[in-house]
Amino acid sequence: METKQMIIKNNEIDNKNVIREAAALLSEGELVAFPTETVYGLGADATNEEAVAKIFAAKGRPQDNPLIAHVATVEQLRGLVDNLPDYVEELIKAYSPGPLTYVLPTNGTCATNVTAGLSTIAVRIPDHPVALSILQACNLPIAAPSANISGKPSPTAASHVYEDLQSKIAGIVDGGPTGVGLESTVISCRENDVVILRPGGITKEQIEEIIPVADIVMENNEKPASPGMKYKHYSPEVPLWLVEGNAEAIQQVVDKEQHKGKKVAVLASKEIYQQVKADERFNLGGNLSEVASRLYDALRTFKEAEVDLIIAEVFPETGIGEAVMNRLRKAMTRYIEQ
Ligand code: AMP
Ligand code: MG
Repeated sequence: METKQMIIKNNEIDNKNVIREAAALLSEGELVAFPTETVYGLGADATNEEAVAKIFAAKGRPQDNPLIAHVATVEQLRGLVDNLPDYVEELIKAYSPGPLTYVLPTNGTCATNVTAGLSTIAVRIPDHPVALSILQACNLPIAAPSANISGKPSPTAASHVYEDLQSKIAGIVDGGPTGVGLESTVISCRENDVVILRPGGITKEQIEEIIPVADIVMENNEKPASPGMKYKHYSPEVPLWLVEGNAEAIQQVVDKEQHKGKKVAVLASKEIYQQVKADERFNLGGNLSEVASRLYDALRTFKEAEVDLIIAEVFPETGIGEAVMNRLRKAMTRYIEQ
């Protein structure tokens, strides 16, 4: 299949041609990738079981890992769930559209493969003009996991999507690089509190302004609360080590591995980036938000042919740092303590 590349320049969103075409393809049961504020999503009509099945096939995603349904409005969100607890209405007022996904009892509107047969459905309203315009134009809930091959780093640019999915999907809407750069926070909405199933763009602190967070579920449970937890994620082509400590501590590990003949790339925030010497380096930026937005691009940058090892800094787990470290821990092959 030829993958149509549909480019949106800033002002083109008004003339709506690309948006209409993307919405038409989605309504016909085809797969279209589009930008959201978190990462690029791979969209399919969430009410069409066959269309949703194409997502699992194109990504190589395990069948038991449910998808997030994306909608444009609170009304549409209400249309997918059994009932909306009062505090969820408050969370929506505060953080939707935005990178927060609500897991709630499903009313069965979406196809059963969206929820992988669970009694709950994950829903969110993305905060991106292109995503919202497409959702409005097709007036359907759109199932949209990240538009990458399962296991690889999520796409934060249309070129990443093309690299992974060209000729497997009908179209890619190119709206430039995404903003947050990490996926949404997924919360299980219980009666009087929430459990964070995946840290993301909305922080625990932000949620706690409205409702207590009972737990942040950690990875690799025997029986995961969220099916996605048991799978490998975000892996670069070469081994990734996390090294605790300052520039000196990181330099020591780099030197040692270089002496063994390895080519080493370092991913680090600006300060450490400026101090460390290595074969390749990637500047993740001066604050945690920049680190979040650049991380997946960094993980995709270094290929097998160029380096043997990637070494990344350990970041503080405050605010968005919690999500950054969650992704890095899943991507790493080794953790070196100070
Ligand atoms: P992705 O689409 O790759 O961003 O991942 C969506 C995440 O939400 C995965 O970790 C899923 O396991 C999780 N998820 C989706 N639906 C549900 C649900 N009904 N219950 C619990 N977790 C869910
Ligand atoms: Mg994903």
